[in-house]
Amino acid sequence: MSYPTSNILEAKKHPISDDYRLTGTVLGLGINGKVLECHNRVSGNKYALKVLKDVPKARRELDLHWRACHHPNAQHIVQIHDVYENNYSGQRCLLVIMEIMEGGELFTRIQERADTAFTEREAAATIYSIVKAIDHLHSMNIAHRDLKPENLLFTNKSLSSVLKLTDFGFAKEINSYKSLQTPCYTPYYVAPEVLGPEKYDKSCDMWSLGVIMYILLCGYPPFYSNHGAAISPGMKKRIRNGQYEFPNPEWSRVSPEAKDLIRGLLCTDPDMRLTIQQVKHSKWVSDNTLVPQTPLMSARVLREEEEVWMEVQEEMTNALATMRVDYDQAINIKGLGQSNNALLKKRQRQRGRAYEEDPVH
Ligand code: ADP
Repeated sequence: MSYPTSNILEAKKHPISDDYRLTGTVLGLGINGKVLECHNRVSGNKYALKVLKDVPKARRELDLHWRACHHPNAQHIVQIHDVYENNYSGQRCLLVIMEIMEGGELFTRIQERADTAFTEREAAATIYSIVKAIDHLHSMNIAHRDLKPENLLFTNKSLSSVLKLTDFGFAKEINSYKSLQTPCYTPYYVAPEVLGPEKYDKSCDMWSLGVIMYILLCGYPPFYSNHGAAISPGMKKRIRNGQYEFPNPEWSRVSPEAKDLIRGLLCTDPDMRLTIQQVKHSKWVSDNTLVPQTPLMSARVLREEEEVWMEVQEEMTNALATMRVDYDQAINIKGLGQSNNALLKKRQRQRGRAYEEDPVH
């Protein structure tokens, strides 16, 4: 694999159809539309095509995904091969050619396992892959902020298939000099403490990792709403208060090390939550090949609860949306509370308004 020297996204302007043959095969549905299969005209290789409206938010998404995946440590990030800037159905669009992930979503694969039980060692190996993806992003100062089951896909159906993270729609670059050069946020006025709240965005990914690890080990999520509806006040309260359990029989044979890690990840205070470095160096993750091969009940539970899986996904999507808003507000409040600089305050009020207009950046 070679990496572009400039690392700056340059969209091709000629028609995508010159290079790729688009098919009607839908690989998946997202909030921004369909992801379709397409074939390179020269090599014949298959790829996935995602179409985005050419708006600044899409450019930011692609820029972060592009930079994150063109890097030697990006083994667990879905690769972007090409980007085209074309008119499509009368609209300026960005057409993204990605590596095709034919192995499907993480939990579908576990659910489909009928022959042997999914073991704690396999769960640890899976978490290790996700940890490598997050570690890479956090070391580039990128928070993904939408780490959830449907964004974790396998390359193919084989046993050696690799799990990769995709969808940078809510990703955010933290603390870079560049991000402070917006008209309402000039570096000269920025107090050091305002430069500090990066951990809130990163801790969002750590909470997600805790939820995914919990589901991997038992087959159901740690928090769920009582009404089956989108995030209910009750569920929000349980998440805030850290009200979850490790009920038997599913958890009776799971190792105490795994439970400790989950406690550290689902810690309610983002300041106290484990960081990716701490998780990476924990014994359960770093020595994942030595974790006991205890059979888990996850595959069976996932199969039995198949009809509520859509709800589980929706609830995680909504919980993450709530968390992003809460943390953005916490960052604003923290910044304001710690500074006496009147001009900075004015600028931050303006920035607050900018957040309301575009809650992502
Ligand atoms: P959105 O940002 O619009 O939600 P996603 O990037 O999450 O879109 O993609 C939506 C769905 O399309 C995914 O859940 C997955 O099922 C499928 N998909 C996305 N990328 C690929 C890919 N590279 N290969 C195969 N399927 C994909």
